[in-house]
Amino acid sequence: LEQKMPKASDPSVKVAVRIRPAVGDAMLRKVSEDSLYVDERKFTFDAVFESNATQEDVYRSVGAPLVKDALCGYNASIIAYGQTGSGKTYTMWGPQSAMVDDPSVSGLQGVAPRIFQDLFSKIQKEQGNSDGKQINYQCRCSFLEVYDNKIGDLLDPTQRDLEIKDDVKNGFYVENLTEEYVACYEDITQILIKGLSNRKMGATKINSKSSRSHIMFTCIIESWCKDSSSKCFGSSKTSRICLVDLAGFERNFANNAGRQHVKEGKYIKKSSSQLGRIVNIVAGRQPDKLDEVPYRSSRLTHLLRESFGGNAKLSLICTIRPDHKSISESIRTLRFGLRAR
Ligand code: ADP
Ligand code: MG
Repeated sequence: LEQKMPKASDPSVKVAVRIRPAVGDAMLRKVSEDSLYVDERKFTFDAVFESNATQEDVYRSVGAPLVKDALCGYNASIIAYGQTGSGKTYTMWGPQSAMVDDPSVSGLQGVAPRIFQDLFSKIQKEQGNSDGKQINYQCRCSFLEVYDNKIGDLLDPTQRDLEIKDDVKNGFYVENLTEEYVACYEDITQILIKGLSNRKMGATKINSKSSRSHIMFTCIIESWCKDSSSKCFGSSKTSRICLVDLAGFERNFANNAGRQHVKEGKYIKKSSSQLGRIVNIVAGRQPDKLDEVPYRSSRLTHLLRESFGGNAKLSLICTIRPDHKSISESIRTLRFGLRAR
């Protein structure tokens, strides 16, 4: 039985699966570059990474194309989705200790630091190239957390309940969210380390360090052409890179996490199904429903609005654990990925 969906006509959503290294038994099998077997069922995606895949492998397939898209003016996003402990945080950011190293030297950096090393090296090349088009770039970043449907500022933890504004004059933004200008890779790693350290950590029975918040790092790239002899003189472009590390969406969250977390568990479940619905509509199989996309149904989906649609490219990384105990969560994660594709 093959679980394969027709490829969406809109190639703007791509789905990769990463299987983390096994702790005990491993019962998931990758069968080709893009498919794996679970319980006799075959699942096919754009790419499947086995547990021996390196951070660099994942970056080359998922991160590098995003940098190109962003420099072409697209809103380019990566969302990590998967049960707690499946490797979302490892894949997206990598260990914090690795962040201060140069990704081309040490190997453990996640997708995010590699993206910005690549981005700034491309920008610096372009700006330093005097026969080029003389494009100037300005980048600014923010880092937020959605916890219990409230938006918190990871760069200023005193701000815990920010509002999304959506007006004709200023467009779409989070009011009072800290934005920092960045000019190089080191600027970015400082912000990443600061924000990640401010992320809420809660002890749950599932995993003592499990995080029950969604976090979103955004970098807005503005560019304009300074070369008066060029056709593009005076024109400007704005695009954004958006990296999202979701809370674990496990089904049994509310039961396992203890009473104080039941409400959170319910909220997390609700935002998972809303996210699934939106991804499904936007991925192109229900194009007639695009006007009814329920973005505003939760803070998470509202914040993701710019990551979906016409000018957007989205990669979903579904992370799974290969052990027998996780099989039903793995299947749920893979099904979520299939809906997006
Ligand atoms: P999540 O964010 O999905 O809850 P984590 O990224 O925190 O999961 O991963 C759980 C644990 O597994 C961490 O200790 C992490 O370092 C480790 N881990 C996850 N994926 C990998 C991988 N591909 N290679 C090595 N270690 C990994
Ligand atoms: Mg995590």
